[in-house]
Amino acid sequence: MSSKQVLTLDISGRPYAWLDPHEAVTHYAKGRVAWELGERLTTFHGGHNHRGLRSRIDVAPIIAIAGSHVMASQVWAPLALSDRDNTLLFRRDRSTCGYCGQQFPHRLLTRDHILARSRGGQDTWTNCVTACRECNHAKGAKLVEDFRPLIFVPYVPCRYEHFLLSGRNILADQHDYLAAKLPRHSRSREH
Ligand SMILES: [Zn+2]
Repeated sequence: MSSKQVLTLDISGRPYAWLDPHEAVTHYAKGRVAWELGERLTTFHGGHNHRGLRSRIDVAPIIAIAGSHVMASQVWAPLALSDRDNTLLFRRDRSTCGYCGQQFPHRLLTRDHILARSRGGQDTWTNCVTACRECNHAKGAKLVEDFRPLIFVPYVPCRYEHFLLSGRNILADQHDYLAAKLPRHSRSREH
């Protein structure tokens, strides 16, 4: 079973979902794929028709769905930062501690609340930063100004970065499509 995913766009090119190939192929079968980009991701073979020809559908890594404009603008909203899963937070910060600036494997990283939860700090993109255990422990419930300056400013990922952060096994075509749309501050950093 392939773990590749299809980046699904609305008709204007805005991403709104990662789909498994078997989900994407139903859009092809129903004639809803308006355009596609990238080298073929996979091929599905169907049954034989009355002339003995076997149906075949090639699935591209990026597809735009016809008539999806309204749907996509309703479905997508900036992704809330889960308070249980740090994966997206660590990816946004490139596995880098916001206080000492060193990179660590995910298991050695923690979520730091810039304004501590005990002071009313929330689990939001702009109040959370990746921190190594040591820095997080040293900071405790201190205010940032009583500890150390942050080495980068936490931000809410834009729609395109959200899809870069949440995709798994992103293909080069998909990465290039999304990265090209990032604001400059995110694009200059490596993904
Ligand atoms: Zn640190």
